Amino acid sequence: MSTNADCIFCKIVLNQIPAKIADANDQVIAFHDLTPRAPTHILIIPRDHISSVNDLSRSTASVLADMTLMAQKLAKEADLSESGYRIVMNTGKNAGQTVFHLHMHLLGGRPMDWPPG
Ligand code: AMP
Ligand code: ZN
Repeated sequence: MSTNADCIFCKIVLNQIPAKIADANDQVIAFHDLTPRAPTHILIIPRDHISSVNDLSRSTASVLADMTLMAQKLAKEADLSESGYRIVMNTGKNAGQTVFHLHMHLLGGRPMDWPPG
């Protein structure tokens, strides 16, 4: 497993800093966002350090399926399957990415604007 010593999400993967874990399996970990922007706001990350969508390759992109299925499961558990939810992957400066370890935001529990600001 590849980790980055300077990465805050790698520290969560390695149990070096606390997080409110929502679910985990061999490939991915889900935890509640520190600054929730919706009633449900969970981050889903690969255990492996991948900086962003820019760094995915054919051999690593399968983790997106694991992340999406984790989001689907968590959305169901939070009773969001019918009301709806949003999956967001901010990539790079203009999109507002602040943590450079690949992550999926699962947001739900309130109506959301489109397009996002
Ligand atoms: P992004 O802006 O897309 O890179 O998203 C990074 C997210 O990580 C933000 O929503 C932050 O609130 C969240 N965040 C940063 N540090 C932590 C942490 N230690 N535990 C949980 N969420 C965090
Ligand atoms: Zn990392």
